[in-house]
Amino acid sequence: MIEKYQKIIKYYGQDNQLNKLVEEMGEFLAELSRNRNGDLNRGKLLEELEDVKICLRQFELMYNVDPFEQAHIRNFKLDRQCQRIDKEILNVNSGHVWK
Ligand SMILES: [Mg+2]
Repeated sequence: MIEKYQKIIKYYGQDNQLNKLVEEMGEFLAELSRNRNGDLNRGKLLEELEDVKICLRQFELMYNVDPFEQAHIRNFKLDRQCQRIDKEILNVNSGHVWK
């Protein structure tokens, strides 16, 4: 599978593929916005999601992203957010009023 990504990067070049990532994220955002506004575009939305994921995988290869380091960062952020939620729940249950 990785060979396919590398073939695409080699053929089009890194600059073009980074521009493609930006373009695909825009297309995904447009479909997500349409979906949020009531369009029944699930198929198109998921297609654009895959376009973004394909470009993100290329980004990871171009930037030598370490999957283990990323997993560590991801887990840290997930834990931190869950702690924030727990703190909010505690504040709500203790009658704290946000101003
Ligand atoms: Mg697209």
